[in-house]
Amino acid sequence: MSVPSPRMETRLIHAGEPEPRIRDAVVTPIFQSSTYLFTKESEYHDIHYLRLNNSPNHEVLHAKIAALENSEAGLVASSGMAIITTALLTVLKTGDHLLAQKGLYGGTHDFIVKDLPALGIEYTFVSIEEESRWKEHLRPNTKVFYCESITNPLMEVGDLGGVAKFAKEHGLVSMIDNTFATPINFRPLEHGFDLVLHSATKYLNGHSDIVAGAGAGRAELIERIRQKLNHFGGTLDPHACFLLHRGLKTLAVRVRYQNESALRIAEFLESRPQVARVNYPGLQSSASYPHAKKLFEGFGGMLSFELKGGADAAKKFMEKVRIPLVAPSLGGVETLVILPAKTSHSALDVNEREELGIREGLIRVSVGLEAVEDLIADFDTALSP
Ligand code: PLP
Repeated sequence: MSVPSPRMETRLIHAGEPEPRIRDAVVTPIFQSSTYLFTKESEYHDIHYLRLNNSPNHEVLHAKIAALENSEAGLVASSGMAIITTALLTVLKTGDHLLAQKGLYGGTHDFIVKDLPALGIEYTFVSIEEESRWKEHLRPNTKVFYCESITNPLMEVGDLGGVAKFAKEHGLVSMIDNTFATPINFRPLEHGFDLVLHSATKYLNGHSDIVAGAGAGRAELIERIRQKLNHFGGTLDPHACFLLHRGLKTLAVRVRYQNESALRIAEFLESRPQVARVNYPGLQSSASYPHAKKLFEGFGGMLSFELKGGADAAKKFMEKVRIPLVAPSLGGVETLVILPAKTSHSALDVNEREELGIREGLIRVSVGLEAVEDLIADFDTALSP
């Protein structure tokens, strides 16, 4: 369906919805069918079969994701890692080289360092801050520059427009994981990126009840990734498609609320004497603030902080805090807290974590939709001796 208003809120509700509605149903029903009657499709990838990612539930989502990221085409997959690994393996082949930002999400990092070399694909990690040094790491076989819009768990934002420009100048495909920022706050394709990827498990779905992935970009590139995904079998099942579709409709409302709450919590934490450091790109004290201010429409719902009392104080805070749940993952309606050194980054040894700036006492918060006053009061109590 073509949407008469370009505004995000309207696109979220109406983009991609079937016209006319199926049996007049306002909500697109779940097509719980693995196969469809053969209608003489001439191409394998056009046959209507669930693994080929082309059920009505997939098609609605593909159009909606494309509308959100302002792209020609969209795609969903069975998890964030399914879309990330499939996208990388679509563009990279044996003998190629990848440039990637230091400090990526652990699963992506592990895939790059363990699985790509086994396929004969080389990599170099670069600091997103040291733009002047990217060129020295280029090789004749470099094909991709991969980065994240906001890094985990230190919430750093680099010169992302610079990444897209550098990639274009050097004939690289630029890919960005936009999970933390979401298309409400930042749309990378509008800044020159070739491909945007998401763990749709997080904000896009928003209710901590599925795992899913999503990607958006040029139609030709997305179709190549879909065909690879068809072979790998990383299909999102129709029921999860339905839940993602439902979650997406409230994305703007949720994310804007989370932006506001996270900023208020970050400011509160920064004002407390027990807190040594707060990582949030919306704080003017953050080194990421100038980039985030220039690129983003909101600063996101994720923050992290360290207490002056170090790991012991962090442990006590985690025991005392009442409203947040202590659990990994992020982007849902409930506030979650974790110690990255014990969870998402526990696979790294202490020295690797220190090098990345992830200390034992670092606490990460995914701000949910609870009343921010309640969260601040709870954090205040948990901080007091
Ligand atoms: N990208 C980021 C930034 C993440 O935080 C995660 C998961 O935590 C992923 C990708 C992987 O997503 P999934 O767990 O949906 O495979």
